[in-house]
Amino acid sequence: MTEPANAATPDRPQPKPWVAAIHAYVPGKSTGADGQALIKLSANENPLGTSAAAQAARHDAGDQARYPDPDSVALRQALGALHGIAPQRLVMGTGSDELLNLAAQAYAGPGDDVVYVRYGFSVYDIAARRCGAMPIVAPDTDYGTDVDALLAAVTPATRVVFLANPNNPTGSYIGRDAIARLHAGLRPDILLVIDQAYAEYVDAAVDDGALALAASATNVLVTRTFSKIYGLAGERVGWATGDAALVDMLNRIRGPFNLSLSAQATALAAVGDQEFVAASRDHNTRERARFVASLTALGNHGVRPLPSEANFVLIEFTGALTAQSAYLGLMDHGYITRWLPGQGLPQCLRITIGTAAQMDEIADALAQMAGSAA
Ligand SMILES: *Cc1c(COP(=O)(O)O)cnc(C)c1O
Repeated sequence: MTEPANAATPDRPQPKPWVAAIHAYVPGKSTGADGQALIKLSANENPLGTSAAAQAARHDAGDQARYPDPDSVALRQALGALHGIAPQRLVMGTGSDELLNLAAQAYAGPGDDVVYVRYGFSVYDIAARRCGAMPIVAPDTDYGTDVDALLAAVTPATRVVFLANPNNPTGSYIGRDAIARLHAGLRPDILLVIDQAYAEYVDAAVDDGALALAASATNVLVTRTFSKIYGLAGERVGWATGDAALVDMLNRIRGPFNLSLSAQATALAAVGDQEFVAASRDHNTRERARFVASLTALGNHGVRPLPSEANFVLIEFTGALTAQSAYLGLMDHGYITRWLPGQGLPQCLRITIGTAAQMDEIADALAQMAGSAA
């Protein structure tokens, strides 16, 4: 027999208030308003697809009736060899998304602050809120990461600082000295999570030193992903590295079989095909430079590409052509890009670097729209 409900008893399960306050993540779209398929340059996927070796490995991944290796041993060994990291200091995640959430969950909770920069990756707000912590947003400088502002936003309640470098959606990047200064300015009990989802696109000459910092400091976690340059977004594979104690905590709370059979097999094959990675980086560097040059030529129309070290460009529109009209106009040309009013950027459009032909078509369309809007 159940007790009769009294007036104070809710008539349904009550979500935790911090969960009810979350705005669900908005993924990049692949269709227009009327459902027609569009060329998708809205989610920073690899226009070259994925490595042929990874595709082949998917068909040969193993016995689907069996659980996968819970510790992704072969994959961690391959990653460790590639990056010079002991496999014990690597933890795999169902995308780096899982790891970002686990980092917040392990080190922050109700009453704690989680700090990140304005226009930071939208998952940080969700990661902070879902463990009951308070997201604190530090001001940017011209859309970029401002280390002093980040440090100034830290309070005695701060437990975690998230920094994407390069950042999404801005493409901005801070160098080794700035990262070192940020780390040096944080209390040792604050976890600094450096999200390097786009690190492989960055010229090695301007490496931000995050992996070296994760190898030596006790409070730095670096996350990486197979979703971007490796072209395996559909397989959901990410990894993190840091002090053994940090890796241990994430291992305790991750899903026990978080990487599927095909996720492990395809990522392992992808690690073995660094030629594909290099070709993807070269393509991106070349096409991004060409695209930025064509946008810079539209400066007198109030079109401004922001500096990007990633596989996308954020464009600010301050002239007669608005970001919204450009977004809708590109849809008429068959392209879906990312307009960002939901992230406080109604004046901006984020466009993923696609193939050379796609970038030519988009640059021409934007030039034509900017010209006729004036
Ligand atoms: C795309 C992206 C990720 C990757 O997420 P996955 O879960 O690994 O697909 C992480 N951080 C940032 C900043 C990103 O843009």
